[in-house]
Amino acid sequence: MKKQFAVIGLGRFGGSICKSLAAEGMEVLAIDQDEEKVREFSSIATQAVIADTTDVKALKGLGIRNFDHVIVAIGDNIQASIMTTLILDEMNVKHITVKAQNDYHEKVLRRIGADEVVHPERDIGVRIAHNVVSRNVLDYLELSDEYSIVELAAGDKLDGESLIDLDFRSKYGCNILAVKRGDDIHVSPRPEETIKSGDVLIVVGADDDINRVENHWI
Ligand code: ADP
Repeated sequence: MKKQFAVIGLGRFGGSICKSLAAEGMEVLAIDQDEEKVREFSSIATQAVIADTTDVKALKGLGIRNFDHVIVAIGDNIQASIMTTLILDEMNVKHITVKAQNDYHEKVLRRIGADEVVHPERDIGVRIAHNVVSRNVLDYLELSDEYSIVELAAGDKLDGESLIDLDFRSKYGCNILAVKRGDDIHVSPRPEETIKSGDVLIVVGADDDINRVENHWI
């Protein structure tokens, strides 16, 4: 059976989640207290309803308990976001993801039962800052406080070097997961593979070790 999602709050964040889930063919219930927003999503979501989710009765009436994953994307109204999360937790919703406005909001959400808390603005800020600081880091994914996966643009220094000679694994403790060349991507590249200037290396490792690779080779 298809997984059932509900998205509460159809602002920029909730709206884009709703659209992406619908585009992936998922079943999505879109909820907002604003009639106009609901109208906008009625042709996108499986179903779109007007409801104030701080109202227990309204949520019960929607059968929200039966959904596999509920995303609370209420923006500025922290009180409404907390109340909604609390009610969903009391109803034993299986998986609750909530958008937080700040660190205190996040702490409260975790204490009252949010399974996952996201900070889209903060996370995008960190990402952009990282890309701006190091112009050869094209993208990165933080795995933990210490470990990341980064995309590094190979320049002339790396041109013609083979992976076996570079030996990032024993020299830096980093692994090259893939090499992108134009539209091609070589996943788990062979050790004798040679890098060309313009290739993009996808590297996993500790942040400090990745920095050492960057400083030396990029
Ligand atoms: P974003 O920053 O993602 O654009 P917004 O603050 O613009 O977020 O949007 C949040 C949405 O959540 C709005 O459309 C608003 O109507 C909706 N919302 C706020 N409080 C409630 C509530 N109690 N019940 C249902 N929807 C709500």
